[in-house]
Amino acid sequence: AATGGSTTVRQVKLEKECELRVEASADSPLRLRLLTGTAEIFGTEIPPGIWLNFPPRLKFAVFTWYGATIEMDGSTETDYTADETPMISYINVHAVLDGRRNRAKASPSDSDTSQGPRVIVVGPTDSGKSTLSRMLLSWAAKQGWKPTFVDLDIGQGSITIPGCVAATPIELPIDPVEGIPLEMPMVYFFGHVTPSANIDHYKVLVKELAQTLETQFSGNAESRASGMVINTMGWIEGVGYELLLHAIDTFNATVILVLGQEKLCSMLKDVLKNRPNVDVVKLQKSGGVVSRNAKVRQKARGYRIREYFYGPSNDLSPHSNVVNFSDLFIYRIGGGPQAPRSALPIGAEPSADPTRLVPVSISRDLLHLVLAVSYAKEQDQIISSNVAGFIYVTDIDLHRKKITYLAPCAGELPSKNLIVGTLTWIEN
Ligand code: ATP
Repeated sequence: AATGGSTTVRQVKLEKECELRVEASADSPLRLRLLTGTAEIFGTEIPPGIWLNFPPRLKFAVFTWYGATIEMDGSTETDYTADETPMISYINVHAVLDGRRNRAKASPSDSDTSQGPRVIVVGPTDSGKSTLSRMLLSWAAKQGWKPTFVDLDIGQGSITIPGCVAATPIELPIDPVEGIPLEMPMVYFFGHVTPSANIDHYKVLVKELAQTLETQFSGNAESRASGMVINTMGWIEGVGYELLLHAIDTFNATVILVLGQEKLCSMLKDVLKNRPNVDVVKLQKSGGVVSRNAKVRQKARGYRIREYFYGPSNDLSPHSNVVNFSDLFIYRIGGGPQAPRSALPIGAEPSADPTRLVPVSISRDLLHLVLAVSYAKEQDQIISSNVAGFIYVTDIDLHRKKITYLAPCAGELPSKNLIVGTLTWIEN
């Protein structure tokens, strides 16, 4: 049963194939170490004897294949032991993927067979998609593969701040505390936390990301054989479902893992039945997945943005910069809200091109918005360019025509071309 609030140092004995599920509390520290046996957190083995410090609110499980003793120090929101987990089915998927990577590696010269598995994880919100993606990546990295992690979840992604689609190679098992290393992710900025803000723009970015990766793979046999793991949004109805199909096509996914929904699984099996090289596999959702309501999700997005500027353990100091309005060129994508085609007279085209680049004049409306710094040198490349990073607008002085913003570091931005959407953040 769940216990909460205990602050003493305590030991937990885990039998084989069991897990300790923990929710760190919001305001007091929690640390944990492995005393005996072996255990992993979402696919990454934890080192014996060393205290791991967990940030507030982190929800995780310590799983053991063969048995372990864990020591915990600090208070938790909840912690309990579970003996029923879907881990065996997940590791079996890993074993199949591993076999396919080996086969791909064995035929490096053939462009078709040298491609390792392209896995896409789909399912409703809170089905454990991000967690399964993470386990598959860490298990693969442990065996020396360098799979590419693609995160299409603009609401609760794990590579960078919300509002982005992104990809990064995973070369080491993902650190249970630090998460995905932020070295060189490939990031495209959408600027909104739901794709419905501009469906066409979202699709354009997914396509750009896929094409960039395709080019990288063609010159890198190791990445190609390692394949990719694609995490998706929990929006699986209507347009959300169409976007899933779009992602499956665009990335040429070969393995579709459906978490916790029969209906979605049978729909996908049905539409993909004529593609012999695509496997649709249903997997059980873990009972440990913690549901998050809209408010919790919104808060989590705020923490993600904060983390970008201040670091996961508050160890970075972002820089406040002041520049002239004329030093920056700010654009948004698309012309205002889109009228649905069905609302227009027959034959009429929607007037506002959803992927049009619109210059934005600097006003107080930009206050508290998070903007992306494009890598594009020319205006017409902005839509198809990835971004270098983000800034946060903290003051607009209309009188002196100065804009104050927070950036991860001091000095000039890598480009003057900035993209704005509706992504806001209130620093607290
Ligand atoms: P979304 O659709 O919102 O992206 P998701 O399907 O990707 O959600 P996850 O992010 O994987 O779901 O899981 C939700 C939360 O549950 C996360 O905080 C994760 O760390 C936690 N969680 C997942 N599995 C377990 C587990 N076995 N024990 C404890 N916590 C878990």
